[in-house]
Amino acid sequence: MSDSIFTKIINRQIPAKIVYEDEQVIAIDDINPQAPVHVLIIPKLEIENIVTLGGSVNSTLIGKLFDAVNKVAELTGCKETGFRVVINNGRNAGQEVEHLHLHLLGGRKMNWPPG
Ligand code: 5GP
Repeated sequence: MSDSIFTKIINRQIPAKIVYEDEQVIAIDDINPQAPVHVLIIPKLEIENIVTLGGSVNSTLIGKLFDAVNKVAELTGCKETGFRVVINNGRNAGQEVEHLHLHLLGGRKMNWPPG
């Protein structure tokens, strides 16, 4: 299987604006932002979706992803004002990139329910 677009970004084969990075996680600005702040939080290990994450990966990675959410919220100024975290999982949710990622959206008022 070929590397996902996010793995190529992690390997610096494709450029991206990196907001945060540590050993297990990278956070980048979304190329097509849906809010003033739209950051993708991505495990460096290529995991297809949340089912795969739950099934085969040490659950500490889930903690790492949410540690990164906290850090990105701080770095982008969203911690005080609030933000939304979204995972599109599978076809019905519109998942485009089959490499697990969290969307952190902020910088504006969010509507509910989402579309
Ligand atoms: P999904 O629909 O899979 O949850 O979200 C995939 C997201 O990745 C989309 O919001 C899309 O704009 C973003 N994306 C796709 N290709 C690239 C890319 O090459 N660079 C960056 N920074 N974001 C991308």
